[in-house]
Amino acid sequence: YAAKSRQCGSLIYHAALDAGSQESLSLLSELRRAVENNELRLFLQPKVDLAQRRVVGAEALVRWQHPTRGLVPPMQFIPFAEQTGFIRMLSAWVLAGAAQFARQAADAGLTLRLSVNLSTRDLMDQDLPAKIEALMAPLKVPAETLCLEITESAIMDDPERALSTLEHLHAMGFKLSIDDFGTGYSSLAYLKRLPVDELKIDKSFVMAMERDLDDARIVRSTIELAHNLGLTVVAEGLETIKAWAMLARLGCDEGQGYYISKPMPQEQFIDWMRDWQAPDPSIISADSQLA
Ligand code: C2E
Ligand code: MG
Ligand code: MG
Ligand code: MG
Repeated sequence: YAAKSRQCGSLIYHAALDAGSQESLSLLSELRRAVENNELRLFLQPKVDLAQRRVVGAEALVRWQHPTRGLVPPMQFIPFAEQTGFIRMLSAWVLAGAAQFARQAADAGLTLRLSVNLSTRDLMDQDLPAKIEALMAPLKVPAETLCLEITESAIMDDPERALSTLEHLHAMGFKLSIDDFGTGYSSLAYLKRLPVDELKIDKSFVMAMERDLDDARIVRSTIELAHNLGLTVVAEGLETIKAWAMLARLGCDEGQGYYISKPMPQEQFIDWMRDWQAPDPSIISADSQLA
């Protein structure tokens, strides 16, 4: 499998190097076929309220169930999709899937916020707010059920244009989130101007904070910064009970990571949520003494 995925990675790498090449054209037609033949899969990863120990939402993460290459991770086709403009079709597919899942969850009596990743090209699309509105309206789920995750770099490509799209989406009631915070090149001046509700601390800091004091300090200051700006703060890459304890003690609102669950096919999510056992509060506070 490792060999297969390396092969796939290099295919896409070469294709991306030469956008007009034969390989690139065939990858693009493969991606089109993937949508037509239902080869894309919507995976969901839970987001948990750390203090209340409750599942409050899920992030939608796309996978490609390729007929010969197996389950292809997003980093092997998202960058290519972004370069060729195919990302708009892909984002529309993910948005529609997430909105439908939000409806399904509501019907099952669950209150869940669904997060969807957007990229630069999506933010450059002036029609995006209207497109999202059109797919949400018939489902009758409130706008705040949908959260759109945007990276700092996606905004900084063309900040003025991105800001206008984001303001439009915010005015419509959709939640907005800054993803991978701390890794992109961004400016605090923009962070202040962006109509965002949530900030996600990049997993690289969270995964390292137990052994690296600098990472722990970055996590702590980011939580403080987010709260001072009135934002909800989410930690990605929560892999251990000790990380949960540290984050809870620092006042981090939500967590997402392998300790809670890896991303899973959307069909499994509601059952998983019903079976999930939150860690005992005494375990969390016992660990926080060590932290
Ligand atoms: P992201 O938006 O930052 O998503 C979080 C990534 O971190 C996911 O990888 C998730 O599986 C991984 N992750 C979560 N918790 C842990 C943990 O505890 N440990 C470790 N090691 N990893 C963890 P995934 O699904 O491979 O996605 C990678 C990136 O691909 C995403 O990063 C996002 O930038 C992009 N992506 C995924 N789906 C979509 C999509 O539908 N549209 C767009 N535009 N981008 C997407
Ligand atoms: Mg994300
Ligand atoms: Mg992220
Ligand atoms: Mg990331």
